[in-house]
Amino acid sequence: MARVLVIGGGIGGLAAGIALRRAGWDVAVSERAAELREVGAGITLWTNAVKVLRRLGVGPAVEAVSHPITRSEVRNWRGRLVTAIDFGRLNDRLGAPTVGVHRADLQATLADALGREHLHLGRECVGYDQDAGGVTARFADGSTERGDVLVGADGLRSAVRRQMLGDDPPRYAGYTAWRGVGVIDRPELPVGLTLLAMGRGSQVGTLPIGKGWTYWFATANVPAGGDGPGDHRADLLKRFGDWLPAVPAVIEATPAEAIIRNDIVDRPPVRRWTDGRVALLGDAAHPTTPNMGQGACQAIESAAVLARHLTGAADLPAALTAYAESRFARTAMITNRSWTYGKVFALESGWACWLRDRLSGLLGPLAVRDTEKLIGAEV
Ligand SMILES: Cc1cc2nc3c(=O)[nH]c(=O)nc-3n(C[C@H](O)[C@H](O)[C@H](O)COP(=O)(O)OP(=O)(O)OC[C@H]3O[C@@H](n4cnc5c(N)ncnc54)[C@H](O)[C@@H]3O)c2cc1C
Repeated sequence: MARVLVIGGGIGGLAAGIALRRAGWDVAVSERAAELREVGAGITLWTNAVKVLRRLGVGPAVEAVSHPITRSEVRNWRGRLVTAIDFGRLNDRLGAPTVGVHRADLQATLADALGREHLHLGRECVGYDQDAGGVTARFADGSTERGDVLVGADGLRSAVRRQMLGDDPPRYAGYTAWRGVGVIDRPELPVGLTLLAMGRGSQVGTLPIGKGWTYWFATANVPAGGDGPGDHRADLLKRFGDWLPAVPAVIEATPAEAIIRNDIVDRPPVRRWTDGRVALLGDAAHPTTPNMGQGACQAIESAAVLARHLTGAADLPAALTAYAESRFARTAMITNRSWTYGKVFALESGWACWLRDRLSGLLGPLAVRDTEKLIGAEV
């Protein structure tokens, strides 16, 4: 049986492992962390990702730990409705829901579906070597492993990507994001609603992720470099205390030590994701800012497409090149568009924000059609 070495046990690596096992490959996923522990935050899995997960046989398990989105609202920071999408109808039209899920639940469900015996924790890949007969992964503890193909799904600061493409630093988008999960019961946040509030240089979003939890994120234009622990809650309540009441309420409902902060970065799209028997996937290949909530969804799509290209392939490097070529346009479009959306959310001047909010209202129906096209696409 042909063997694939997957580096990284995040959403992308686990999805790739599942897809490749279904395609008949012997899979070994190597994860640097000693235990699986996703950050304490939620994630939107749009219809496009849910459909792929269903095809991979994991849809029901993931949907069982998720919460379906039935309505999406965009409001200004004071609470005035700008535009709304009826996700209930959209979900019906597309045949699969968009859902909110806690990252830890998603990761655990994917790891179970992969089969924990195929996941090797505490194994940090430091590089690879290849020859005509196969590829060898090298690990930090001095061990090696041999396979027919190696998939670098080791995230934004991928060691596999560094060896393949060099050490280009990610680009800072100019804003940072705080995230948290709280239990909150407010009339402005009915079950199934995802809310985005836009202010001057800031946005705040909420997402139901099941079990009564609400995931939220908030962004602000600040210099890079503030990742890590700190009293984010006091700072956030200063920044967002006078926003529509649901915003300070979700921040207050989150334990201070559970709020995480990350500078938002991506990389401009590149076409090269392969080197012979080695291919990149997920954030290692197509990192994007989170403004469209598509980073992990695209990693899941890439996993399925990669497995399809490798199925029955006689020439493995050619199959990997075909995989990368087939994924470039869609992922590059998302990275570029998401970057632009981020700039629009980051606008600070009063008149520019007024115009943005007006246009968002007027262009609402177009945005729905665009969203439907994006998340309804079959990959
Ligand atoms: C604020 C924010 C909000 C977001 N919201 C959404 C959203 O709503 N929807 C969505 O689809 N996406 C969202 N994303 C994007 C999403 O989180 C990423 O695109 C996704 O996690 C990428 O998955 P990945 O598996 O490629 O990489 P990662 O999640 O980074 O996983 C990589 C894994 O590889 C491991 N690793 C790293 N180096 C090595 C090594 N050398 N050897 C072995 N293992 C290694 C890491 O420990 C990690 O487990 C968001 C991102 C941010 C920052």
